Amino acid sequence: MAFRYRLDTFQDEALKDMLATFDEARAEILREINAKLDTMSDFRKERLSALLEYTDEVTAGIRKELGGKYAEMSATVATPAMVETASALSVGGLSKVAVSMVELSPTQLRAFFQSTPLGGRLIDRWVDASFDATVQRELRKAINTGIVQGEGYAKLNRRALQKAAENGINLARRESITLTRTFVSAANTEARDMMFRQNRDIIKGYVWQTMGDNLVCQLCLPLHGREFKLGEGPEQPRHPSCRCVKRPVTLTFREMGIDMDEFNQELDRWVVRGKVGKDGELIVKNIDVGGRNEILKISRAATAEEWLKSLSPAELRSTTLGQTRISMLEQGSIELKHLLRPDFSYRTIKELEVIANAR
Ligand SMILES: [Zn+2]
Repeated sequence: MAFRYRLDTFQDEALKDMLATFDEARAEILREINAKLDTMSDFRKERLSALLEYTDEVTAGIRKELGGKYAEMSATVATPAMVETASALSVGGLSKVAVSMVELSPTQLRAFFQSTPLGGRLIDRWVDASFDATVQRELRKAINTGIVQGEGYAKLNRRALQKAAENGINLARRESITLTRTFVSAANTEARDMMFRQNRDIIKGYVWQTMGDNLVCQLCLPLHGREFKLGEGPEQPRHPSCRCVKRPVTLTFREMGIDMDEFNQELDRWVVRGKVGKDGELIVKNIDVGGRNEILKISRAATAEEWLKSLSPAELRSTTLGQTRISMLEQGSIELKHLLRPDFSYRTIKELEVIANAR
């Protein structure tokens, strides 16, 4: 948890840097597009297609810069993540079983993240896709809907194109917030995985650990506390902005030469985040677009189910579960684990009803 907090702080700093890059890029891209528009006497389709290609060239530089920054950021996260994992594996240095470190220089780490798919895609591909899906798409939309076609209205056309470009950049900027969060999590997970693989003699598997709050999504909450063998279980991060981590399951204290019993039942710290609105409902911000939700309440529970039982109706409504699932869970007609199919994908309400009826 303490390390996750450090990651969040790091994320905030990385975000500031990333967004500053975007704000510089926006001015540059708009300047370039304007310069190009100056050379255009009419807005026929061929001309506009050429503009699209040109935009692609203009954004290539910024995409490369962002890709480099994401890789750098991932490498920076990886080192403390490995050190933290080593400390956990050695039980703060008490263990008699040696923990072996992954020896990668910062340059090697950067190269590793640049050449390893995170969430199924290489960093550069992510950046390209986010730009293509936004700046280019907005421009294409403006061109294809005919707003900017025709030989007259050059001024109007120009404004429409500028607006489309600006809109696209703003969307890409928003997406960058999600990408930054996701890459920090992915780098953390990759670094831990490398350490786990390196220390197979100590590690038996891992436990899926969510952030333990009401923002945890329906895909992850049912996995909280579930144990997997190394290399098994769903990919982590499981979705954009996923904050879950893998907690290693190690040899017992005595097996590690520490003369101590295992800790009794472990209690997780669970928190409720948000703000109480005038109507008593909890207001939870979408953290994908930046910022943080304040902690309202801290409680301890051994399982996600136990924690859900301790929540007030308004707190329950602030979770991502939705009223139907909450009711089914409250009535005991389904359990949290039923929310996911055996392949860990999401079950529909209809499927859940079938399960409830069969129980
Ligand atoms: Zn998650």
